[in-house]
Amino acid sequence: MSRWLYDDAMYRFDRPEPSYWEATRGSQQPTASPLTTNEQCDVAVIGGGYTGLSAAYHLCRDHQLDVRVLEAGHFGWGASGRNGGFCSIGGELLGGEAMVRQYGLEQARAYYRSQVDAIQLVRDLIVDEKIDSLRQGDCEVAMACSRQGFARLKDSAEFEFRVLSLDTSVVSRDEFAERFFDSPLQQGGIIIRPTFGLQPLRFVQGLAEAAERRGAKLHASSEVVDWARDGSYHVLKTAGGSVRAKQVILATNGFSPEHLHQQLNGRSLPVISSIVVTRPMTADELALHHWRTESPAITAVKLLNYYRLLPDGRFLFGGRGSANGSESSAARNYAGLIARFNQTFPNWRKVEIDYRWHGLVCMTRRMTPAIGRLSDDPTVFFAFGYHGNGVNTATWSGKQVARWLVSGTGDVHDVPEWLPRMMVGMPDRFPLSSLRLVYLQAMIGALRLVQRFH
Ligand SMILES: Cc1cc2nc3c(=O)[nH]c(=O)nc-3n(C[C@H](O)[C@H](O)[C@H](O)COP(=O)(O)OP(=O)(O)OC[C@H]3O[C@@H](n4cnc5c(N)ncnc54)[C@H](O)[C@@H]3O)c2cc1C
Repeated sequence: MSRWLYDDAMYRFDRPEPSYWEATRGSQQPTASPLTTNEQCDVAVIGGGYTGLSAAYHLCRDHQLDVRVLEAGHFGWGASGRNGGFCSIGGELLGGEAMVRQYGLEQARAYYRSQVDAIQLVRDLIVDEKIDSLRQGDCEVAMACSRQGFARLKDSAEFEFRVLSLDTSVVSRDEFAERFFDSPLQQGGIIIRPTFGLQPLRFVQGLAEAAERRGAKLHASSEVVDWARDGSYHVLKTAGGSVRAKQVILATNGFSPEHLHQQLNGRSLPVISSIVVTRPMTADELALHHWRTESPAITAVKLLNYYRLLPDGRFLFGGRGSANGSESSAARNYAGLIARFNQTFPNWRKVEIDYRWHGLVCMTRRMTPAIGRLSDDPTVFFAFGYHGNGVNTATWSGKQVARWLVSGTGDVHDVPEWLPRMMVGMPDRFPLSSLRLVYLQAMIGALRLVQRFH
């Protein structure tokens, strides 16, 4: 029986995903040799994406701790190296109004403020560490597909502006076509600032190189296969060696090895998201949909699509992924995604697709991210569950884990006041967690049905 939730094809750590990002990876690379010895350090980080690297970077830069990062693949092998590259507001699925009802106005405002800060953090890291991340655009454009959809979007944008102090504005159908792009589905939309697009693999590679420069020791191809306790130390074993550490940070998000620690079991719902990228288009081809923005865009429906124009004229289009991650189910899913691309932008239906790939995003039962320490072992910290919006949220969460680790008292009930409440602590387990994929498919089926009538 597989140790993982999805088909084993989703966890081939020795194979880079065949993405456009891998094909255009930059020259910034950490040394990151595999672990081949038995080592000791202050903090061991499991997972080399934005969360783990941001935690390691901040622990080394600001607190000069001895940190090692163990990554099963290459740095950025996971979602951090294969996402859509939207650095945008999000990270949760509750929505602003539900958040205010559940957690109160001040906490909801604090959450969205943290999202804006998180975008600024990514921008600062890019500038301070001279990361060649190919930044593009200055807002996120959300397209409505029906009159009811536009009315809903307008209401939520007005609420976010008035109550949550977010920088949102409403755009009519004509203005939308004039300023951004057009599609037969387009019924107006909204814009949200701040947001920009980047090359996500270059950002994670740059972050890895910066963490290494600040003193973190990085080990690629070093999957943690066993985790034991030896007195006050954790002992993490890989195929080639081991690390003894006083504290551990779990930063594996959608690729979490639930078999490694019983506390992880059933706490998250990884969901596959897929992307296709076209060949470069000419200016005349782009004009067929009046495309005139470098800003990232989404179709604002429940099962959303996300898309953006890339610096070389290629077009990236992403959406829901396959049911189980096997090669055959992924192939069927890419066909569906391309059909949705053609439906949204029919004048580009003859444009060839050059790249297709997928990866895991991570949901929690309470529909907000999770930052905390294990209740039965406060020397283990975690951060996960960014609901498909981790470029800023994971980078920011890694920094918060570092801050908590150095400033906390060691008492599990001692929670930092600077963290918005809805992000703190381990989320509840999904009920009947072994059936997570079954009810995920049922939920997607239901959403598809709802969408058909809106
Ligand atoms: C297709 C797709 C599109 C997305 N689009 C966007 C977007 O446009 N904007 C946005 O903000 N977010 C997006 N996301 C989400 C975003 O990529 C993630 O939230 C973010 O990268 C999470 O970062 P992370 O460091 O927590 O996890 P990851 O980057 O997934 O890193 C976890 C790492 O843990 C490693 N690991 C697992 N088990 C072990 C082990 N036992 N030992 C050692 N290492 C281990 C894995 O190899 C992996 O590299 C997207 C995700 C996907 C998949």
